[in-house]
Amino acid sequence: MSYTYEAVARPKSGLRLHLNENTGGCSRAVLDAIRAVSRHDVAFYPSYDDVVAACAARFDLAPERFVLTNGLDEGILVTTITALRDRGADQPEAIVVVPAFDMYASTSDAVGARIVQVPLGREFAVPVDDVLAAVSGRTRLLFLTSPNNPTGLLIPRADILRMAAAAPHVLVFLDEAYADFAGVTLVGDAEAAALPNLLIGRTFAKAYGIAGLRAGIVTGHPHTIARLARVVPPFSINACAAAAIRTGLADREYYDWYLAQVRESKALLYEALRRWQLPFWESAANFVLVRAGDRAKAIVEGLAARGIHIRDRSHDPSSPGCIRITTGVVDHTTACIRALEEVLCGAA
Ligand SMILES: *Cc1c(COP(=O)(O)O)cnc(C)c1O
Repeated sequence: MSYTYEAVARPKSGLRLHLNENTGGCSRAVLDAIRAVSRHDVAFYPSYDDVVAACAARFDLAPERFVLTNGLDEGILVTTITALRDRGADQPEAIVVVPAFDMYASTSDAVGARIVQVPLGREFAVPVDDVLAAVSGRTRLLFLTSPNNPTGLLIPRADILRMAAAAPHVLVFLDEAYADFAGVTLVGDAEAAALPNLLIGRTFAKAYGIAGLRAGIVTGHPHTIARLARVVPPFSINACAAAAIRTGLADREYYDWYLAQVRESKALLYEALRRWQLPFWESAANFVLVRAGDRAKAIVEGLAARGIHIRDRSHDPSSPGCIRITTGVVDHTTACIRALEEVLCGAA
């Protein structure tokens, strides 16, 4: 079994609703900040004092409680290395609740762990007892995602805390890549902060729209963050990304605008899906998982023919018949709904 990151289509044109990117482009202030980067800023190794202070203020965290990473992907990688580096005679194990973001299994596999997959339960709920039953003496790492990708569902706070508390020898990585859209986070939660084995990952890729610059953050107990910090390369964030994070955090107007666009987009898509009687899961993120059944492939291809790219999840046995649609800027969602209408109703 190989666990490679699924190669996703890289369309040269059209509307990209397949990778949960920010469909609006980053804030204009962020672009201005990048333009203001000087020749010396580019020539010198970056300094992170300002960006660390900005993150500390925004997330209300002491600097020893987080590390900045080159995208949350790097946060996942350094967590995996940290958890799996001191391996004994037995092959260590990493638990992935599936369906899940590909990176968890691919990095754990690359670092030499055995992947233990636990399928989501009924209606894609995280099966807490099954997860805990999968924990063994060899388990080093447990990946949780809330809101989950691709379901968009939140894991109840009590469930996350229960899993982390029940397995103190396991590093629990809570991926909150979409927490901005949910308005719910365990960053800053007193009980979560007291658990030395709980790490929480955030990214500036989605709500802030700087996926192209690569910027993320991992927060946790200072002891655990110190272990992670030994693995993160000292200049992991480039000068443009550092400038973009600082400015992006300051531009609340853009952030609030985008979150409102996503909320409205989801409401419009839900309404259309109900009209077409396509089952879906109400999402706390910036995408919606839809059960299209045996029409999945035709829908994905029909939309692609109209220049709209969505994610086909139907071939994954843990999300059979499902497609995932990014809900970003309202105009983009409206265009997608119009195209879906044509494909589903055979019009046009
Ligand atoms: C997009 C995504 C990431 C990656 O974030 P980057 O900061 O772009 O590396 C991590 N986790 C999940 C669940 C994601 O969907």
